[in-house]
Amino acid sequence: MQTDCIFCKIIAGVLPATIIWQDDDILVIKDIHPKAPTHNLIIPKKHYVDQTALTIEDAALAYKLFVEVPKKLSQQLPGSGAFNSIVNNGAGAGQVVFHLHVHFLAGKNLFNL
Ligand code: 5GP
Ligand code: ZN
Repeated sequence: MQTDCIFCKIIAGVLPATIIWQDDDILVIKDIHPKAPTHNLIIPKKHYVDQTALTIEDAALAYKLFVEVPKKLSQQLPGSGAFNSIVNNGAGAGQVVFHLHVHFLAGKNLFNL
């Protein structure tokens, strides 16, 4: 746990969050400022700064983070199960919490510009 990390504190139970799902490796919470009708954050319980911090040793975790858990969440959505999964890597890309997380968004077409 990184003592200065908001998501590590949520994972440790020190800060509150609305928990959607969890197992030993991953916590899914509701985003506090939702950008779509469904906006969850899929967070590895181990602290990684961003997506580039994952290594080949993390392949099983990466599969859970990017495939298995998004698929599980999509199966619980009403309708078609369509969703966006987004990772911001670096401040220039909009990352504000430097603990890897996948945004899981549904109910709004974010790219219908
Ligand atoms: P980033 O911009 O780093 O990719 O995304 C960080 C996300 O975390 C943002 O969408 C923001 O609303 C969310 N967030 C920031 N602080 C908290 C918090 O304390 N609790 C929850 N549930 N979400 C948070
Ligand atoms: Zn952390």
